[in-house]
Amino acid sequence: MSAPRPWNLVAELTYRCPLRCVYCSNPLDFARVSDALDAPAWCDVFEQAAGLGVVHVGLTGGEPSARRDLEEIVAGAARAELHAHLVTAGTPLSERRLEALAAAGLRSVQLSFQDVDRDASDRIAGRSFFEQKLDCARAVRRLGLPLTLNVVLHRHNLSRVREIIALARALDADRIELANVQLHGFALRNAEALLPSRAELDAASETVRDETLRSARPEILFVLPDWYRDRPKPCMGGLGARTLVIDPSGRVLPCHAAASLPGLEFWNVAHRSLREAWEDSPGMNAFRGEEWMQPPCRSCPERFRDQGGCRCQAFALTGDAAATDPACSLSPHHEVVLRAREGAERAHAVALRYRDATPG
Ligand code: SF4
Ligand code: SF4
Repeated sequence: MSAPRPWNLVAELTYRCPLRCVYCSNPLDFARVSDALDAPAWCDVFEQAAGLGVVHVGLTGGEPSARRDLEEIVAGAARAELHAHLVTAGTPLSERRLEALAAAGLRSVQLSFQDVDRDASDRIAGRSFFEQKLDCARAVRRLGLPLTLNVVLHRHNLSRVREIIALARALDADRIELANVQLHGFALRNAEALLPSRAELDAASETVRDETLRSARPEILFVLPDWYRDRPKPCMGGLGARTLVIDPSGRVLPCHAAASLPGLEFWNVAHRSLREAWEDSPGMNAFRGEEWMQPPCRSCPERFRDQGGCRCQAFALTGDAAATDPACSLSPHHEVVLRAREGAERAHAVALRYRDATPG
């Protein structure tokens, strides 16, 4: 089938990060992936992406501000007329650096918070950076840049969702994304410790409804965990449909975790044009269309809506990347998810397992 037009580029500039979040979505073997693309190489990628129809680039990681050449990279995105959006943990990122990034063409910032409570935040991040995050948020607003807060929700912070929204209001954020934890990568290692109970989730949903009615600002996006929905989400709006991800090594992927899927060949912008890697690489085409689907997805009327769910979750939970996502109640492997939900109903203390410290 012919490849669709991509709209969004996720540029993973580095996997280095000073934090060690227990739900980090970077690959488990992130330490083996080096920063292979220098600033001119990223700028060339941005020009090629614009030629494909991309209009937005998320500069992410790891922590993108760990790159000393971030200003040059932002300027390259601006020259290619992409909306340059920085996805950051807020450190190492001084106000002076933010000013330089804004001058280079940065258009908006998404800042992650782990919690509204300092100690709880440190416990989830594995490091103490709460104050730096507050400083970063204030600096972003002083510079007049649009600010989104992103908070991953789980059983340790769901009860503080009202206070988290209040923090976003106090920081004058334009938007807050409350994303219930997706159990991939490091989060899957901590699934037992992170998955909330149904009652905790329902109470938080009710609070978010109240707060949304109370004020239009900030805009609140609340993403339910698919382990409680009985139907999976359409991963990335369909793999290889709208978004392309380039990892720090230059590999072109349909989602940030796809390199963990076995037997797939993805191409690298160091050796191929971005158009070739997007349109023709075997890995990018593996899950386009529906020929790859197995029963029950293959004949399911809902397959056009959710494309069978997340391939990485299917592989992590069944060992088969083409299987129906076990988050779906029609999956023959749905029992895995039901057992996890039952476990979440029992109050228990489980030790958290942290992402490794950043190498180098
Ligand atoms: S989730 Fe945490 S550890 Fe992972 S890149 Fe983001 S801030 Fe760093
Ligand atoms: S069977 Fe497959 S296509 Fe049907 S709802 Fe479940 S995941 Fe979606």
